[in-house]
Amino acid sequence: MYQNCKKLFFLSITLVSLLSSVLAVSEEKIQIPASIQEECQRIGHKLGSVSVTRCLQSQLQDTSARSVNGQAILLKEYPPLLERRKPIGRVLLIGGTHGDEYASVSIVFKWMKILDVYHSGLFHWHVAPLMNPDGLLQKHSARLNAHGVDLNRNMPTPNWHEETARYWKNTHHDPRRYPGIEPLSEPESQWLYNEIKRFKPDAIVSVHAPYGVLDFDGPPVGPRKLGQLHLRLIGVYPGSLGNSAGIQHRIPVVTVELPYAGIMPSKQQTSKMWTDLIHWLRYNIPKEETLAAYPLFEDIDKHMNAFSQKVHDDGSSKQLQLHAQKVAN
Ligand SMILES: [Zn+2]
Repeated sequence: MYQNCKKLFFLSITLVSLLSSVLAVSEEKIQIPASIQEECQRIGHKLGSVSVTRCLQSQLQDTSARSVNGQAILLKEYPPLLERRKPIGRVLLIGGTHGDEYASVSIVFKWMKILDVYHSGLFHWHVAPLMNPDGLLQKHSARLNAHGVDLNRNMPTPNWHEETARYWKNTHHDPRRYPGIEPLSEPESQWLYNEIKRFKPDAIVSVHAPYGVLDFDGPPVGPRKLGQLHLRLIGVYPGSLGNSAGIQHRIPVVTVELPYAGIMPSKQQTSKMWTDLIHWLRYNIPKEETLAAYPLFEDIDKHMNAFSQKVHDDGSSKQLQLHAQKVAN
């Protein structure tokens, strides 16, 4: 008799908690802001590996930053779980800097799904799966943002005007590498730089495709491999995130170059990359150099700008301005 009562008691508790979680889920659905619902619709219809439902379930937040065409830059925070432990570091994870690298967005959603279940408070995460919504969410997805700028050449780095102009000339003015007319001329790169300044990550992980390697910038040493991807230093480019955050601000930047832009790595590879990444982060951050550089953030920024202003009007940056006018027309 006592046993039966006990069973009944636990059964009713289970039913009540089930019911309340169902109610909580439906409440959450109602509370999702329109900007996120609309963008999730567009993401779900664009990407084969991310459904509208999955995107909505991710509980992304609107950063209130907007792309050139007014689309939201969405972010998910996995906060510290202080009742369990103090996080060993802050990590910023970014996908979709280049809008035609579909897999770089999809894999970040897959990794968020892992975090949704297993976030243990080991790290404090900020995750932005799609930094360039205008690039991806259009009929023919494009690498560049809506101003035709390569966001990974628009970050502040020393001698920006001179160096990006020289670099762009070397690409024979390839429109796919156009760095913009000024560092941080674009709202998307402005958001990223401000996010770094605000959040002060101990590491940044940025996902791209399709070179099938791992790149690393900043205080040594980067991960030797993540899943099937092996470390191969690609080089330092003016205006790139690796140069700006890694070399200038001393924040380790892990650039994951997936093997294909349009094909996701296997399920097994996706989770192996993740566990390798967590392992590396666990034993390698925060770096002392990163912590030492944070109080100097504004100084480093000013120093880079001072350098940039001096060469603002040299002939080579004329080309950048002309291209901007051409794109605008
Ligand atoms: Zn890319």
